[in-house]
Amino acid sequence: MSDMRKHTDGGATALGHDLRRSVRGRVLVRGDEGFDAARAPWDPAVEQNVLAVVEAEDAADVAAVTAVARLAGVGVAAQAYGHGPAAFEGAILLRTGRMRGVQVDAGAGTALVEAGARWADVLPVAGKHGLTGMAGSSPVVSATGFTLGGGLSWFGRAYGFAADAVRAFEVVDADGGRGRVTAASDPDLFWALRGGGGDFALVTAMEIDLRPAPSLYGGRLVWPASCAREVLDAYRSVTAKAPDELSVWFHLLQFPPFPGVPEPLRGLSAVTVEAAFLGEPEEGRALLREFETVSGAILDTRGRLEVADLGTICAEPTDPTPSLLRAELLTALDDDAAAALLASSGPGTVAPLAYVQLRHLGGALARPAENGGACGHIEEPYLLGMLGVPGSPEETAAIADRQASIARALTPYTSGRKPFTFLGHGEGAAAAFPGDVLARLRDLKRDRDPMGVIRANHPVLG
Ligand SMILES: Cc1cc2nc3c(=O)[nH]c(=O)nc-3n(C[C@H](O)[C@H](O)[C@H](O)COP(=O)(O)OP(=O)(O)OC[C@H]3O[C@@H](n4cnc5c(N)ncnc54)[C@H](O)[C@@H]3O)c2cc1C
Repeated sequence: MSDMRKHTDGGATALGHDLRRSVRGRVLVRGDEGFDAARAPWDPAVEQNVLAVVEAEDAADVAAVTAVARLAGVGVAAQAYGHGPAAFEGAILLRTGRMRGVQVDAGAGTALVEAGARWADVLPVAGKHGLTGMAGSSPVVSATGFTLGGGLSWFGRAYGFAADAVRAFEVVDADGGRGRVTAASDPDLFWALRGGGGDFALVTAMEIDLRPAPSLYGGRLVWPASCAREVLDAYRSVTAKAPDELSVWFHLLQFPPFPGVPEPLRGLSAVTVEAAFLGEPEEGRALLREFETVSGAILDTRGRLEVADLGTICAEPTDPTPSLLRAELLTALDDDAAAALLASSGPGTVAPLAYVQLRHLGGALARPAENGGACGHIEEPYLLGMLGVPGSPEETAAIADRQASIARALTPYTSGRKPFTFLGHGEGAAAAFPGDVLARLRDLKRDRDPMGVIRANHPVLG
């Protein structure tokens, strides 16, 4: 019997033996105590049907796991914290959470970031030097997973995609070989890794450019949902004139009724705006003045911000949470689109959704980057995100229905494309790319990983 048969026929024990002989990190296989906890992603509703889990200690472990997987004829799925889960049927789950080193070179304005480092690991170190990484709303996603998918940051309008701030990737290829990938050493792979997802190599570290953030201002304003129309009008007006240094997001939000949510937000149907401004507080406040003309605000957290505190703006959950996301890129947010959004998201509450979100894009995100990666650029000016937190199959169905009805109402204003990092569970990579980009990514996958050893959550051939 070939090694491949031996393992895919449930030979998890033999695979575990091979892995334990080869790596320093913890290895768990089906039947081991702790296996279920080790294979669980951030969304506990998604079952990751892997054969084994390896918690890699270093790049040598990543190479060793890949070599074992190749011989065994099974796949390897790299995963930091599982914010983008998938079934990964029969693969080895390679957890990178023990590889969290971050070294900042303040003089060069760069950071060497290991595969498992979260933005929360990068930002405090960068912030001490008046610099920032290109983090998004959550401090607990890995900088690597975020960046491989392009990465839509608070600072995307000023500086473009996170992926285009990468100088080099340290990788293990599908053969288990280690290398450093730059624009000069391997232009095709360097292009694909900047936005095409995790299908092309296992990244052990990235060298990224940090961006200047000597002063930062931001926070959140909250009103009752009854103010939604006025707040959305102000949002459209503020974002129409916003400089690239200002990013403003809008939410129709149903705060959960849990004791952990402080009054007066607990259980509230709300409308909120969130802002981050690369500049001084007085200027930031002036740019957001129109929101102060909407009376009835019940919370205003705006103020000078530390780079390390970026994650507090949206205060997203940092503990594992079931979630069902659907995103659409909007081609316009004119009077009719705004009216359709409010009519389809209400009345009164977005439930069973947790929120309906608008992110203002544009700025550098809309301009092709010089030698940019597979993420390309986004012409659509707004991103619509609709998220629910399902607790049962019935709730899942109700959330999906609500998402579909909002998307239907906005069909005339959607392009059909979605940013890679906003693909929902089970959505194919094809939705994220124009045809020529997808074809190039697919050719590269076939060329670099003909046996399909590397398994990504949104595979380009899927
Ligand atoms: C609460 C929350 C907020 C978010 N906010 C934003 C946001 O503001 N902007 C934005 O752009 N995205 C955002 N995202 C999406 C997020 O960027 C993606 O889910 C991203 O893939 C998460 O990376 P991760 O490594 O933490 O997830 P994981 O599930 O661990 O990894 C996701 C995929 O990335 C690839 N990958 C990860 N590590 C490696 C590696 N070392 N080598 C090769 N491939 C690898 C794999 O294909 C893997 O399947 C958010 C997600 C959540 C849950």
